[in-house]
Amino acid sequence: MKTKIHTYTSQEPMMKVNAFIVEGANELVIVDTTLTRSDSLGLKQQADALQKPISGIILTHGHPDHVAGTYHLKEHADIPVFAVPSVKQLMLDTEQIKHAQWSGMFGQEWIPEWSYPTELVNNGDQVRIGDITFSVLDIGAGGDCDANSIWLLEDENRAAFVGDLLYKNNHTYMNDGGILRWLSNLETLTPALKDFGSFYVGHGAVCDIKDFGKQQAYFLRYCSEVLKATNGTGIFNDNSRKLFEQTMLSAYPDYGCQFMVGLSADRVGKELAGIHQH
Ligand SMILES: [Zn+2]
Repeated sequence: MKTKIHTYTSQEPMMKVNAFIVEGANELVIVDTTLTRSDSLGLKQQADALQKPISGIILTHGHPDHVAGTYHLKEHADIPVFAVPSVKQLMLDTEQIKHAQWSGMFGQEWIPEWSYPTELVNNGDQVRIGDITFSVLDIGAGGDCDANSIWLLEDENRAAFVGDLLYKNNHTYMNDGGILRWLSNLETLTPALKDFGSFYVGHGAVCDIKDFGKQQAYFLRYCSEVLKATNGTGIFNDNSRKLFEQTMLSAYPDYGCQFMVGLSADRVGKELAGIHQH
């Protein structure tokens, strides 16, 4: 049978993170594992309903909304977890910080302990999980955190699991990593991935190659509005921040994740200001 891709979209209303179930003839591979207790159990239920064993879990990047649920998927089974080394390292470096930052807000829904990658893979590797083969691209810090990877399914699906590289019709989290590296990755990957038909993203609907250009345009608009609002300094005050947020919200009236707009403004401002100094 043709490999089938199922999407699980979180019930958690703020980030609505996606996870994916790749269904082969005899088994399943899970790509990313959601944030909350309920969603990870919901993802597990959707997988169980397919009545095939889970042969492996892939983690595209090291943010809580993509890795936390691994704990519940593995709870009663010894399932290998695949990631590039930097994703595991970022999890190790940030787990305690993320618990401290978010557990209060999510209460019982917060998963208090993470399950870590058990199988480390590298850029260019072909990884066979059961009867499903993925190719790995380690794209480094140029994404929505400091460690990001893309997993390619090169069968007739021509599908790419890109984590949070693209935010389909959503405002984007740019508070980790770097905006210039992210723009560079988009520029480099557009020709490299042009033969792929479907890009499965962490937030929002499935993308196509045109969304790479859309994401780049969003970043350029964001950067130029940061500079405009701060008179080129990259440093906000209450007024300029409000003005900037209003401008971005009215420029993208249909976009979700509206709380992200202000969240990343200082970080991007500092990166842009750093460029001015050199
Ligand atoms: Zn995410």
